[in-house]
Amino acid sequence: NDAAGNATGGRADELLGRLLAQGMNRRSCRSRYETWRYYKQFPYAPSPHLLRTLRAYEARHRRCAPGTPLYARSVEQLRSGRSADDEAVECRYIVWLPFDGLGNRMLSMVSGFLYALLTGRVFLVALPPDSADLFCEPFPGTTWLLPLEDFPVANLFGLGHNPEQSYTRLLHSKKIVVDSDPAAKNATAPPVPAYVYLSLGYQLTDRLFFCGEHQLALGKVNWLLLYSDLYFVPSLYPIAGFRDELRRLFPARESASHLLLRYLLHPTNPVWGLVTRYYHAYLAPATRRIGVQVRMFGFASVPVDDMYNQILACSRLERVLPEIDGGGEAAAAAGTSSKTSTAILIASLYPDYYERLRARYYEHAAAKGGGGWVGVFQPTHEERQATESLAHNQRALAEIYLLSFSEALLTSGLSTFGYVSSSLAGVRPAILLTAFHHKVPATPCRRAVSMEPCNLTPPRGVECRRGTAVDGDDVARHVRVCEDFQDGVKLF
Ligand code: GDP
Repeated sequence: NDAAGNATGGRADELLGRLLAQGMNRRSCRSRYETWRYYKQFPYAPSPHLLRTLRAYEARHRRCAPGTPLYARSVEQLRSGRSADDEAVECRYIVWLPFDGLGNRMLSMVSGFLYALLTGRVFLVALPPDSADLFCEPFPGTTWLLPLEDFPVANLFGLGHNPEQSYTRLLHSKKIVVDSDPAAKNATAPPVPAYVYLSLGYQLTDRLFFCGEHQLALGKVNWLLLYSDLYFVPSLYPIAGFRDELRRLFPARESASHLLLRYLLHPTNPVWGLVTRYYHAYLAPATRRIGVQVRMFGFASVPVDDMYNQILACSRLERVLPEIDGGGEAAAAAGTSSKTSTAILIASLYPDYYERLRARYYEHAAAKGGGGWVGVFQPTHEERQATESLAHNQRALAEIYLLSFSEALLTSGLSTFGYVSSSLAGVRPAILLTAFHHKVPATPCRRAVSMEPCNLTPPRGVECRRGTAVDGDDVARHVRVCEDFQDGVKLF
């Protein structure tokens, strides 16, 4: 298969340089064994420490997963209303809850999973019906699905961003305390609650989460419920207790989301069917594949022509799409002998950009030395986001994977859908800047400094104990202001 050949750093083999564990049933999740044939880039091999950590994680997950005696005991403990004081409690959990669109969800999933790796927890997911058939089980010989029927927390999907059990409210009501001096045991300390709800979505209700001393307090809690739509990994780096471990897990910081996404998320067979049918029918024949993802947010909408012109200006600036030949006959003659061909994959809720780009390469030949024959393809145009529909989400996920098989990407700023595609692809995209206040930006786009997603809502202005702002001087060291958002930070 021609798609497999060009590994650069990491190895192109079906287990992605042992990133994926052996011992899964191939037929139950074909994508897990087949994506390597489609990815164009393998820029980062997993570090030996990451491999050891993942294998140890998988063993822990098997010991503690739903269906095991340890899980049954932990659920009993949860029912009792307080965490076990036993320091040696074997299984602690973090339960991921859905919030926001698919891209947001994938990013909060990998963030929560990394947090589980850092804190020795077990990562479980509470999936509503709209997500029931999107992702395969990631860990061999066990399940990551939280059994919803007998889980003792009511209304799991409706708690929102400020429930009573959220960390900050528990702090206010003194139901959880932070040791001011860890050496001095506080005799009047209340029992540690059985669970804490972490509200880490864009409202960032529980921003104190990002302080080391609060991590110590949370470490005693048996169950954490994670409600987030953010890629909060960049904001874990400033926490002193995590920093060295993160450095060992990801010697190249920009590889974090790339490796975590490729490790954790694998589309189920129905989604993989969409991906592979489309890929082989439309994209495989081309020698080069370019992805274009156009997201039009309501708060930043502009007329179609303005956005189209921005895409062309960006493409010219960052050399993404083939330029067209101005001449007539010469161009036609050059075209017939071309040995190269380019497939441009469009992902968008609307058909307009596809129609314009298709017409562009129909009416003009690609410039000499450009892309040869140019085909333009768009699998769907759903018109509107419908996160409550499983079939809609399956199509969206298929498009994220189809984009991730590109060697070059042009994506939309602020869009987690685009962020996930780039990280999965291992590509630094050209990112279209957002038309804030509906004003077309003067600079059409910027080249990403890394393939990492932007954390759109980092904890700002949080005073941790030592009086330092969480992300103060760390901005220079591990993170940068995002290309597409002044208030966001990303690893590089
Ligand atoms: P974001 O809003 O761009 O950060 O991305 P999300 O994935 O979190 O939410 C947007 C949702 O709208 C997606 O999950 C899809 O349901 C839908 N959507 C947006 N753009 C596309 C697209 O290009 N193709 C498809 N199929 N769905 C899309």
